[in-house]
Amino acid sequence: MTSALPPPPVIEWDHVTFAYGEAVAVEDVSLTIHAGELAAILGPNGSGKSTLIRLALGLLRPSAGAVRLFGRDSADFADWDRVGYMPQVVAGTWRDFPITVAETVAHGAYRGIAPLAIFGRSDRPEVVEALEAVGMVRYMGRLLSELSVGQQQRVLLARALVRQPELIVLDEPAAGIDVSGEEQLYALLRDFNRERNITIVLVSHDIGAMMREASTLACLNRTLVRHGPSHELTSAEIAMLYGVPVDVLIHDALHEHR
Ligand code: ADP
Ligand code: MG
Repeated sequence: MTSALPPPPVIEWDHVTFAYGEAVAVEDVSLTIHAGELAAILGPNGSGKSTLIRLALGLLRPSAGAVRLFGRDSADFADWDRVGYMPQVVAGTWRDFPITVAETVAHGAYRGIAPLAIFGRSDRPEVVEALEAVGMVRYMGRLLSELSVGQQQRVLLARALVRQPELIVLDEPAAGIDVSGEEQLYALLRDFNRERNITIVLVSHDIGAMMREASTLACLNRTLVRHGPSHELTSAEIAMLYGVPVDVLIHDALHEHR
């Protein structure tokens, strides 16, 4: 038997610093996510998670350091079919915007839904297949605005899937859905990761869910606090990350989910 090559890097943050004006949101972060990982980026609110993702997707440019996607500088990266992005869903986003579920998925753009975009044909087989994968095919003709937040999230997941990406990035995908919706979402992601070998990057503030779901955990609080296998995360590291004792957090997390 020949020894297997290590999986190639998918996202590399190389000594990355980013500031919004004077305010440093991400400081000297070096982190690599490899192909096949189900990776989580965990940290309290305002710790720079979304900023780190925007840097990876070329939506922001680092003030210092370099960011590479599939080995290319994010600024020069052009092969967006390889990347699915599920931005955070905010309730009410589509209230006055008459777009159907199928049109949303057919659009398939990764940078959010542009109101004036010209939509692709919405009855293509890949659109139907992506909606089947997330259990939303029977809602194809419905308006996005008529769905619950959890259903909208699944539609956005179908949209991220429609180009059969190698990487899917999800920013707080469980925010605003109930426990059973959350379990279904994570089951889908596990399936995409294992059965389709899609690299998944999950951004969350939810310690319990990330310890359960992710293979690797990067803990961020402006700087990278730790990175390694999720099952090796210690109470001391969690306390350092969140600045409060772990039992308080676990209590809050349980409370939040009931
Ligand atoms: P997280 O996703 O972990 O909650 P963010 O990356 O959204 O954190 O934010 C990190 C820090 O940067 C926060 O202090 C936030 O207030 C600030 N920030 C985020 N977006 C902007 C922006 N567009 N302009 C100015 N400051 C921002
Ligand atoms: Mg965020």
